[in-house]
Amino acid sequence: MGLLSTLHKNLEIVSEFIFPSVEPWREGRKIEGACCQRCGSPFEVPVSIPIQECANCNGIPWHLDRAFSCYLFEGDPRRSILEFKYHRKFYWRSVLGKVLVEGYRDGFSGVAFDALVPVPLHEAKRRDRGFNQAEELAFVLSSRVEKPVWNCLSRPHETISQAIQNRENRLKSPLGSFQMMRRFDVRGRSLLIIDDVLTTGTTANECARVLREAGARYIAVLTVARGVGS
Ligand SMILES: [Zn+2]
Repeated sequence: MGLLSTLHKNLEIVSEFIFPSVEPWREGRKIEGACCQRCGSPFEVPVSIPIQECANCNGIPWHLDRAFSCYLFEGDPRRSILEFKYHRKFYWRSVLGKVLVEGYRDGFSGVAFDALVPVPLHEAKRRDRGFNQAEELAFVLSSRVEKPVWNCLSRPHETISQAIQNRENRLKSPLGSFQMMRRFDVRGRSLLIIDDVLTTGTTANECARVLREAGARYIAVLTVARGVGS
């Protein structure tokens, strides 16, 4: 179990009392309706014919079969994620986890996943922060959908935070950022990568590339939010 999973198991009951709703946000745009079946980008205008992939996905070497995010990364969802990650406001763990549960049911009702795979943090960053937010959210989702959490990826090289890079640099693939943990066998498995925010999709796609090379059959990503305009 993750550090916070143990630490906050009891506090979760309290936080659920304080934040009883799955949607506690007043300013937040849920991603609903038609969106790209590959990257999850919502279509700005209603589409009359079903489109599988958006124009942005054209020519991108996706290793992901599908990406799905629940909210746009703005307003209250953005504030909650940043407070959880950087200001240790751990009561958001339960709320953000519940959003993922809803996203899992909305986006992947027909998929039988074998496991949830959190995007790993570099060990030094994990030590500084004290926890990996993706892992903590995966544990909340795991307890509700009864899928195991597999920490089967490691991140041996530190990469610059996507939030402080410009778009040009973000789009450059961080090749070699992730490695497969040897004790896991993912051959033929269906895996759901979990993260808090999807920005360009580069990070999740790189995780998917490593999992695919290790033999995974179906790989998707679920995040609480996705970057606005990405
Ligand atoms: Zn797309």
